Amino acid sequence: MTTTPPAAAGGTGQAVAGQQSATVLVVEDEPAIATAIAQRLSAEGWRVEVARDGLSGVDAASRLQPDVVVLDVMLPGIDGLEVTRRIQADRPVPILMLTARDDETDMLVGLGVGADDYMTKPFSMRELVARVKALLRRVERATQVAVATPSEPPIVMGDVTIDRAQRRVHRSGEEVHLTPTEFELLVMLASSPKTVLTRERLLAEVWDWADASGTRTVDSHIKALRRKLGADLIRTVHGVGYAFEPPAG
Ligand code: CA
Repeated sequence: MTTTPPAAAGGTGQAVAGQQSATVLVVEDEPAIATAIAQRLSAEGWRVEVARDGLSGVDAASRLQPDVVVLDVMLPGIDGLEVTRRIQADRPVPILMLTARDDETDMLVGLGVGADDYMTKPFSMRELVARVKALLRRVERATQVAVATPSEPPIVMGDVTIDRAQRRVHRSGEEVHLTPTEFELLVMLASSPKTVLTRERLLAEVWDWADASGTRTVDSHIKALRRKLGADLIRTVHGVGYAFEPPAG
């Protein structure tokens, strides 16, 4: 793990705790799984709170202002999709969603639910910890970039404008709302137009996650980007990766 200094507090709109003092909210209704996750994450030195249903999860997110949320999709009451919508409407926070099957992950990303990463059950606790750490690093990095480069010029290609300082995207004059992960993925691709980036490289750069088991997460987020921005912008190179194709217009 790389050492990163705690982000400066205040002035960025979202205070971000350093890895050591991070707060993780776990929303999971199965007691054995919830307890196992909470114990493992607590062992990392993080403050961990468990909510056992969707509404409690939304309340806890509002009260705790967690740095990361680990969210089971199948919950009593309101499900993980609705929990994500309500949490993100209140305040953007990285969400790692736990799903039952790989095709469920694809379906959720296709819907543009807004989670930043997905893990299919069953998973190893080692993998869970690695992914939570990666999300925490990304939040810190995004905050630092925003502070360090407030006047970074926008990327303009055809009718697509990517404003890195404001973290906003427009196509044909219409604003396109992306999740933080989708935004970083788009910037990565658009920074090297017509260049094929492998799924492994995208995973390492955008998710800070080096294990190839996560490449499905890349594919799923590419689907979401195409659905929101238009399928013509990102070319699939089968068996290799993806390339950004600048629009003509
Ligand atoms: Ca469940």
